[in-house]
Amino acid sequence: MIGQEKLLSYLEMTIAEDRPSHAYLLYGPKGCGKKTAARYFAKALLCTGSEEKPCGRCRSCTLFESGSHPGWAVIAAKEGESAIRIGAIREMIATMVYKPFGDRHVHLIEEGHTMTVEAQNALLKTLEEPGRGQVILITSERPDALLATIRSRCQILNVPHLTDEQMGQFVQKYFPEDLQRARALLQRAKGSPGWLVENLKDTAVLEMSNRILEGLLTAFKGKPSVLFALGEAIAKDKELSEPLTDELLYFFLNALRRHYRGESQPHQQDLLAILSRRQLQLISETLFELKNCLTYNMNQRLGWEATLMRIYAIGANIDVK
Ligand SMILES: [Zn+2]
Repeated sequence: MIGQEKLLSYLEMTIAEDRPSHAYLLYGPKGCGKKTAARYFAKALLCTGSEEKPCGRCRSCTLFESGSHPGWAVIAAKEGESAIRIGAIREMIATMVYKPFGDRHVHLIEEGHTMTVEAQNALLKTLEEPGRGQVILITSERPDALLATIRSRCQILNVPHLTDEQMGQFVQKYFPEDLQRARALLQRAKGSPGWLVENLKDTAVLEMSNRILEGLLTAFKGKPSVLFALGEAIAKDKELSEPLTDELLYFFLNALRRHYRGESQPHQQDLLAILSRRQLQLISETLFELKNCLTYNMNQRLGWEATLMRIYAIGANIDVK
């Protein structure tokens, strides 16, 4: 865990002493690594190996990795729901009466601030006396939304954002194959490794972005009608517009930067060979305009069609006002 040395050494000390508190609240901004830290801590607390924990080899570690450790439970809002309801907390409490597997049972409440007030109240008493071997971890990006009585019963651990330098190390270490793309996303990740991982996995955006760039090449070669079908395809997924605009913007801005520096273009060389520096600049401006329009409730299909046609006009040197 890069950038979390302070937190890590605290957790390691707790693990070595083997006398954890009943409850921990890990808080920090979205995507900062709260869940990763909580999982690491839980795995180490449950590890039955004799050396450094988590050993990664004992039966407990193996079960944990496969997601089937009976002493490990994750409580989160049900799919399609935004809140953790009282029923989920009651279920968790009910499992606590059994003798824990090994001698410990770790429960993780994800995004604790989404617990309803009833759920939080149901949790209160258990937080005071969870029973032997029971450890409750709560992660939250909004600890202020938790009852003060919940917070006061937890050990509070801060999981901070990573600095630019630490993010760089994170990318080097975990994404050696996707280095280029990961680096391109760094600025938008704003110190959040979780966001970066999430967006690197988001192949839908990348695929559509490639489709658009290839569509533009076809259009520049004399078949602009392909662009209409693209506008329609993008409009089908409302969530796609914003990240797609960003992805395309980064592509063209990067291309422009390389152009200025006289560097070769690693991607979409056929397309970029057609476009001059001035054209790259105009295309980037067009995408900026689209990005601004997206904050209004514009018609997605028309907005994208207009943008793609404008880019086509720029690339084909057609003067449109
Ligand atoms: Zn182990």
